[in-house]
Amino acid sequence: MREPPASTGREGLGHTLEARLTIPEPVRELMDALWSAGHSAYVVGGSLRDDLLERPPADWDLATDARPDQIQAIFPDALYENRFGTVTVRRDGRAYEVTTFRTDVDYADFRRPTRVEFGESIEDDLARRDFTVNALAWGAEAVDGGGLAHAAFVDPHGGMADLRSRTLRAVGAPEARFREDALRMIRAVRLAATLDFRIDDETFAAIRGSSGLAAHLSGERVASELDKLMHAARPSIGLRLMGSSGLLAVVLPELASQRGVPQNKIEGEDLWDHTLRTVDAVPADRPVVRLAALLHDVGKPPTQADGHFYQHEVVGAEVAEDILRRLHTPRAVSDRVVHLVRQHMFRYEPEWTDTAIRRFIAKVRLPAIDDLLSLREADNVGSGLSRDAGDLPELRGRIGTETQAGLVLDRNALAVDGDDLMKELGLPPGPELGRLIDRLVERVISDPALNDRETLIDIARTETLTDESR
Ligand code: ATP
Ligand code: MG
Repeated sequence: MREPPASTGREGLGHTLEARLTIPEPVRELMDALWSAGHSAYVVGGSLRDDLLERPPADWDLATDARPDQIQAIFPDALYENRFGTVTVRRDGRAYEVTTFRTDVDYADFRRPTRVEFGESIEDDLARRDFTVNALAWGAEAVDGGGLAHAAFVDPHGGMADLRSRTLRAVGAPEARFREDALRMIRAVRLAATLDFRIDDETFAAIRGSSGLAAHLSGERVASELDKLMHAARPSIGLRLMGSSGLLAVVLPELASQRGVPQNKIEGEDLWDHTLRTVDAVPADRPVVRLAALLHDVGKPPTQADGHFYQHEVVGAEVAEDILRRLHTPRAVSDRVVHLVRQHMFRYEPEWTDTAIRRFIAKVRLPAIDDLLSLREADNVGSGLSRDAGDLPELRGRIGTETQAGLVLDRNALAVDGDDLMKELGLPPGPELGRLIDRLVERVISDPALNDRETLIDIARTETLTDESR
């Protein structure tokens, strides 16, 4: 075992922050192994930052002067499957990334570098990182003759001070760094939201001046940052910064145009304010509903006329689909979000009959009901109403009653399927068959007693006859 971390004064800080470090045992063992083999080893980047902030790090990253083949020689079970010097070592089911010091070269088109070069020192490695709080390291150089490693902080860019004042500041000249990689601007906004940090004035001014460069970014890279932003305790912090920096107008112009659109919901607030309140009101563990909240009124600016937004949910669903396609959102997620946007304008009345409740369930579809009701709760909050406004608890209760009674609500629960109908009635497959099944579902929703094979085939026969005679 090495001795516990000793402050060398290299970092010029007291012991308080160091005392906070909770480097896990496997990470210490990896560092020990690298040191013993005559290499330097440091904990770097987001993991060190998060640990100092007392946020459990998502993953632990190490930097070393050892080259990938040397890292693999030290850890024979390690995997090296990329061109960037990152070797993955698994310990107890968790992955640890050990990366050779790098300097990035050849930035092309304001995107990330096209190739990387190995750096000579931890200082080289820290200089290429985006923000000062992400450009800290804790570790030590190689220990000659296998003596004790005196681990210490390395902080060439003032990251500790920025961590204490919760400030995001670009490493080096902000404008030049955003020119190298425009994603850093979106990362700044995302990190401000997830860490609850402010962005330093000069860095923010540079984002405003360079926001147009974000147009060069791939949908995937933007989406991955937006996704993290949307998981923040209050996404509105980041979304507002997206708006005020000009980034929103570049990556999500459909949302930027909500600014200034009037809403008679909360005094003095516009549609963008309403969207942000709605997003914040959705629990963080419901990302699909949060995304739907972000996009639910995206159809309002294009449909605005005489103080109305006629059929904005229909237009909104189309716009939402475009946006999500651009962001390469997985189909399973975008289908759910688009559906919620399309359905979000329902209006429950206590006078609804049980049939009306079943029709509502059939239209919204059972798996989406809970999402839709939670979207409406957030929409209520975003409109300055109580979460339960519009008799939502009563609607929830009545939906529960209908579903528990096992009453048929969709095609899957119908006593006949397409095969039966084709066989019994000699119908060809196709959209006409689909429409027939939909009509049968409608009939069964109105009268659950009809859900019987023979009865439905009889109804289908009459329906097809009337169709032909039309
Ligand atoms: P998270 O907590 O979401 O993982 P992170 O800051 O760790 O945030 P990662 O994508 O895991 O983000 O990146 C790890 C580290 O790599 C960062 O802390 C930073 O030092 C560096 N880094 C990441 N992206 C960039 C970039 N575009 N430009 C410069 N450095 C970057
Ligand atoms: Mg990370």
